[in-house]
Parts: sequence; structure tokens; C-alpha cells
Amino acid sequence: MAEQRRTMMGNQAITQGALEAGVRVAAGYPGTPSSEIIQNLADAAAEHDLYVEWSINEKVSLEVAAAASLAGLRSLCAMKQNGVNVASDFLLHLAGSGVRAGMVLVHCDDPGALSSVNEGESRHFARMLELPQLEPGDFQEAKDMTKWAFELSEAIGNLVMLRSVTRLSHASGGVVPGTIPAPQGRARFDHHGTLLDQGHGPVSSSPVGLKHRRQQEKLKKAVELFETSPFNTYAGPEAPELLVITSSICNLYVKEALALLGLAERVGVLKLGTTWPLPPKLLQRNLERCERVLIVEEVIPFLEENVKIAAAEMAGEIGAKRFHGKRDGTIPASGELNPDIVIKALAGLLEVPYQARPAAYDRLAGELAPQATQERELAFCPGCPHRASFWSLKEALALDARDGFICGDIGCYSLAMRPTGYGMLKTLHAMGSGAGMASGFGQLGRFGMDQPVMAVSGDSTFYHAVIPALINAVHQKSPMSLVVLDNSGTAMTGFQPHPGTQANAMGQPVPPVDIEAVCRSLGAEVTVCDPFDLEATRRAAVELLADQSTAKVLILRQLCALSPQRKGYKPYDVWVDQDKCLGDQCGCNRLCTRVFGCPGLAWEKESGKARIDEVICAGCGVCASICPQGAILKSERA
Ligand code: SF4
Ligand code: SF4
Repeated sequence: MAEQRRTMMGNQAITQGALEAGVRVAAGYPGTPSSEIIQNLADAAAEHDLYVEWSINEKVSLEVAAAASLAGLRSLCAMKQNGVNVASDFLLHLAGSGVRAGMVLVHCDDPGALSSVNEGESRHFARMLELPQLEPGDFQEAKDMTKWAFELSEAIGNLVMLRSVTRLSHASGGVVPGTIPAPQGRARFDHHGTLLDQGHGPVSSSPVGLKHRRQQEKLKKAVELFETSPFNTYAGPEAPELLVITSSICNLYVKEALALLGLAERVGVLKLGTTWPLPPKLLQRNLERCERVLIVEEVIPFLEENVKIAAAEMAGEIGAKRFHGKRDGTIPASGELNPDIVIKALAGLLEVPYQARPAAYDRLAGELAPQATQERELAFCPGCPHRASFWSLKEALALDARDGFICGDIGCYSLAMRPTGYGMLKTLHAMGSGAGMASGFGQLGRFGMDQPVMAVSGDSTFYHAVIPALINAVHQKSPMSLVVLDNSGTAMTGFQPHPGTQANAMGQPVPPVDIEAVCRSLGAEVTVCDPFDLEATRRAAVELLADQSTAKVLILRQLCALSPQRKGYKPYDVWVDQDKCLGDQCGCNRLCTRVFGCPGLAWEKESGKARIDEVICAGCGVCASICPQGAILKSERA
């Protein structure tokens, strides 16, 4: 029996939709804002007889999900925007070969880069790869549209892309769940037909000419279905002064803006759930309504450009229109949108005076906010092994004195680009790019470059994309050092398992793949250290830098301070001996609080000395090694 309305996070609604569609296999790689989708399905695996995995990277996760589809089981793959780039190599082939049982790729963009180092836009992959693109406009649609995406996939015989964004994935709203069917279907891959028989033959994107034509026919079939899709809606007067075309979470921003401005009688809203390819008849019917059109979307003007192309093609029927959006600056060209931004755009276009709130309110809020909140820089957590690692690497590079540098990578250790991480990362791009770039820098000695180069990577990133870069460095004899910051988990996204862990996404025991053994098998020299042992780590790093004749690996292994094994466990009692700490008088320049900067260390204004903040301190004991006065003391807890 169908349940009553429940509050669900967007990612939970997507999971519910997939379960209602009878999904049997799900795979992905963690990345905010997408991670909860696979996690929720993993949690539901035992109850609904699913196979769910955190794959080594996004391309492999797509391959795993595709295998299930070809064997007749509905499958889902989830990733963040960067992941689509990683998966795109296989995605291009899959789009050409087609799928069998329904298969959905949920890709979650991060407008405003709230948890990313870019605000990449993944909708353009749908256009580039000629795959249908869906975008839910609220939480109920996130559930309903996910379910429908599987049906669409089977109706056209190809993968369907479903895009979410951070504010949909991570915000919550009312959803009426439906029923989840009992698990059914047996996996079987039928491969005895001809290459042209999509249902029974071998699967490939070749013969390309024929398959590409077929792919485009599938897309045409999707457009026909989009023309009458209930996910495309119009609300407003028959002949509005302005037509807003929007999609995704921007739909809610537009609704709120119109309500606040009282413009519902003057402005029409065409909310599109099927954003690629655009259904032309539906678009024509709506464009005919008025002369001025505002397109509201995040991140790139994807919808705007596609609507303009469609409008140009139907100009004979609908005449010329005036378009507003990102291209003319009515909507910001980058960053996340919100109702205030949409209000500003609408108020400007329709010349409606609007003041979001009294100026006095803004002034008072500006004055009170600093008093109500504690000033805190974005920094590593108390007891974080990365702070200790970068402290030692900083000292080693300084001792080496050849202006060496570190190429960064993606993980919580990316914070080492900031002052709180001692500004240690000098490059920061994609997963695995630190090692790849270090491999390249290492080759530049022949052109006179004499700076030693290091790369850092986390353990999860090591498996995801560093292994090929390390192979390259070893094989090309590139003198670089890779430092693997092994905190034994995919910490940044919520401790999802990776190939180094002993249990899989569903909690079942699996054989861990040892990083050290992998590196040695590739021919790299390997040293392993505990980063909390600052002296040993510094020594190892100095040795690494001294002999850069070949590619070497230093594994700095220590559990993440927030890992389930360490959380709440304090190995040391730590305190500052107030007699030994001379504070500003001792010439240490507040090394502990100002330079080392663990949030567990506080500066006491009255005494002008350091102290440990018992509530925040994780008791790692590392700061006891950095005070030149020996004023920070530690004793092992029983
Ligand atoms: S604890 Fe040590 S490093 Fe910190 S202020 Fe006192 S003497 Fe300086
Ligand atoms: S022991 Fe020192 S370094 Fe470790 S968490 Fe506490 S204050 Fe920070």
C-alpha cells in the first residue's frame, strides 16, 4: 500500500525512485553531492536483494552498472560532476552500443562549488553524447522522475542521464513514496545473436555508422515522449508579459521569487524536466505566448542556448523573441543561484520596485553576526594526521633548500593549499593529477629545473587515479616522490569503503588491496611512517628529497581523526605547562597557535600564554613535539 507523504532529502528521493523502479544493481564513486544515493542503496541491499558497490572510480562504476543492464537487470550509477569526466570515455561507447534493461546515470552538479574545486557542468555530456537528459524540479519529482527514467531507458534502449544539483540532493522536501516491488528477474547475458541485434547479440558501438544512426533514432523517440511528459509544466497567464523557462532546483527559486514579488499574474513559467533534447512542439506552444523570455538555470547557459537554437529554427512560425539569461548578464554567469538573485532579475526586467529587507536589518545583522559566531578559518580538524604530515613535509622541503614543492590532489588534504595547511600545495586539479604532474615536473631536470618535486594523494585517490600516474613515473624514470596520506578511508565524503578496506558497501568482508604491496610491485621504493612521529617523518621526507634518482613512495599512515575507530578516543592527555610557556616573551612567535594551528590549541589573552582547549583537543599528542620550550606535555592515557 502506498505510504503517506514523508520528508526526504533529494538523494533519498532518488534512491526511493530507483527502488520503486526495481533497480537491482547500483555502483558509484563517492563525491559530494551524490554520495548518499549509493550509500542509501547499500543500506537497502539486504532487504531488497540488490548488489551495490563503491567502485574504484566512476568509469568502472559505469561499466559495472552497464554489465547488469546487459544481463537484463535494471541498474543505476551515481557520481558528482567531476566523475562524469572520468566516466566519459566508457560513456561515449555505451551511448553508441545502447543498453538492455533500464539504466540510469544520476550525475550531481555542484553549482557554486560548495564541495568541489570547480563548478563543472555535466549536462553538456548529454548533448555531446546524444543521450536524453532529465532534471527533477522538486523532491517529489526527484523520486517520480528517477522511476520514470528506467522506463524511458527501456523504451528507447539507451542510458538515461538524470541531473541533480547540491540544493536538490542535500535539501529536503515532501515526497509521497510508492510501493517497492519484490525483487525479480534472473541475470543472463544473451550474446549469441548478430552484432546488429541489440537484444541478443554481442554489444559494441560498432558498426559505428549503423549504431550512430540508431542512437539518433532513439533520441528522436525520447523527444516524442518528452512532448507529452508530465514533467514539463506551464503555470501562469495565457499571454504573460514575460515567459520564464527554467529547470531543476531553479524551478523552486523562480516560484519563490514570483510569490514574493506578487508577479504570478504577469509572468508565465515553463518548467522543463526533459532538458535534452528539447521537445519542439511543446517549446513552440509556449514560446508563442510572449515576446520576452528569461531563462533561469545553473551553471552554464545550456538551456538558454538550446532554446535559442530551437527558437531560431521555428522563427518562421513564432517570430523573433527577446531573450534574457546568462548571455546578457540578467542571470549571473557563474556561481549558485538563489531566490534573491532571481528576484533581482525579475524585478529589473518588469521594473518592479523590490527591497528584500530593510537596510537597517542588513546593517544590524552585519554588526551582530560576528558577535554571535566564533571566527574560525577553514582548517584541518583537531588531531588530523594531515596537519602533522604537512608540518613534516614543510620542514623537509625547507631543510632541502632547493625550492622544492608539492603537487596536490583531491581530498580533505586539498586544504593544504590554504594558509591553515601551510600553503603547501602548489598545484591542485583532478583526482590523480598531483602524481601525474609530478611525473611531468620530474622530467624537467634536463631543461635545467633543479627543484625537487613531491606529490600527495589520499588512499582512496591512490586507487582511483594515482596508480597509472605512478606507473608512468616509474616507467619513465621520473625523479619524483609520491606521499600517500593514508588515513584509511574515503574521509572527505563520509568513510565509504575503497579497495584498501576490509568490507564492501554492503558491509560484507572483502580482501583489502595493500597500497604498499601495489607500489612495490610497480618497482617503486617504499617507506612507511606514522605522521604523528614528526621526527621520523621529517627524516624520511628529507631522505626522499635527497635522492630523487627514481620514483619513490612515502606512505604516511594514521587514522583520520573522525574515523569511527578514532572518534571519541583520546590516546593522550595533553596540557600546557604554564610555567614553561613564556608566551609572547619566549620568542616562539606563538608557534603552537599561530603557525601549527591545531584548533585544539587556544591562546589565553589574560595570561598571554597557550592552553589546550579540552573540548576540542583530540589528544593526538603531536603538538607536544613542536613547542621549542617543551611546554606542551602529554601522558599516555590508561
Ligand atoms: S606552548 Fe610553546 S610554542 Fe606555544 S606559545 Fe608556549 S612556548 Fe610558544
Ligand atoms: S594534542 Fe595538540 S595537536 Fe593533537 S588535537 Fe590536541 S591540541 Fe591538537
